[in-house]
Amino acid sequence: MTFQRIAVIGLGLLGGSIGLAVREHLPSASTTGYDADPATRARAGDRQLVDKVCETAADAVCEADLVVICVPVGAMGEAAAEFAAALPSGAVVSDVGSSKQSVAAALEAALPGVAVIPAHPVAGTERSGPDAGFASLFQQRWCIITPPEGADPANVAALSQFWEALGARVEVMTASHHDMVLAITSHLPHLIAYTIVGTASDLEGVTESEVIKYSAGGFRDFTRIAASDPTMWRDVFLTNKDAVLEMLQRFTEDLTALQRAIRVGDGEQLFEHFARTREIRRSIIELGQDDTRPDFGRSDHGNS
Ligand code: NAP
Repeated sequence: MTFQRIAVIGLGLLGGSIGLAVREHLPSASTTGYDADPATRARAGDRQLVDKVCETAADAVCEADLVVICVPVGAMGEAAAEFAAALPSGAVVSDVGSSKQSVAAALEAALPGVAVIPAHPVAGTERSGPDAGFASLFQQRWCIITPPEGADPANVAALSQFWEALGARVEVMTASHHDMVLAITSHLPHLIAYTIVGTASDLEGVTESEVIKYSAGGFRDFTRIAASDPTMWRDVFLTNKDAVLEMLQRFTEDLTALQRAIRVGDGEQLFEHFARTREIRRSIIELGQDDTRPDFGRSDHGNS
């Protein structure tokens, strides 16, 4: 079974990219879309992110066989409640939220009796809004599907096929496992980036112009991550609190160990640690999940 009438709720980076990718890879399918922001709806219409931009969420979903909710995780329940009464029977509802246990609970509460199959395409950029989306966002990226207990396997298979058609590789796991894995691979790195950029900008004795001027010394990559959407990331930390706090605790312990190695001059420990982490980078490149070129292919190779 392939979905043929896809409704996208929220027409920012993720929603816009889904609309464009469906047009490119599933040309027989039709798309409708809705966003709470009238300016976003207008811009989505100009860019033709979906075939038809609707004025209400109910209009967008009323003929859909798949609804994909692409709003910040804290707004999932509210977005679903808005179209619940208009949903055709048999439609599958999914989402793209970055945390999964809280989203599953919010969607199940808002859509009792509906086939809800949450998912998270692990693909994105630091940009947001209706101008940010592009059709190739999901190419070769993972999409994690987190079916609730008792979900119809046919719906899980259909959603997997949908994401594979858009270019993604699919993995199925529980929502709690997803939240733990993403806490360390995505959420904690964002927290660290937000912290370090804030710390640098608060430093006395180092001017803001120096922070910008010498940013190629490693800081620049943190600033890209720390430019991510504040609403999205506020919601991620509030909805994946337990897993993030657990990973933060482990991180703090490891940081303290490195701090001690520096203080006591334990070069061997530092070298061993850095050699091990370099291997992880190699594995990521081998798996095709990042650019092989030095400095991510930037033309102006700065200090590292
Ligand atoms: P985005 O570009 O800001 O788009 C979200 C859109 O949803 C905005 O236009 C927003 O309008 C709209 N919206 C908010 N509440 C709504 C509601 N109740 N009904 C309809 N529309 C509503 O955000 P995004 O980056 O696409 O992120 C969307 C989701 O994808 C989030 O759950 C995020 O966790 C997940 N995700 C993001 C990334 C990433 O890298 N960005 C990667 C993977 C997954 P307003 O601006 O007016 O609020």
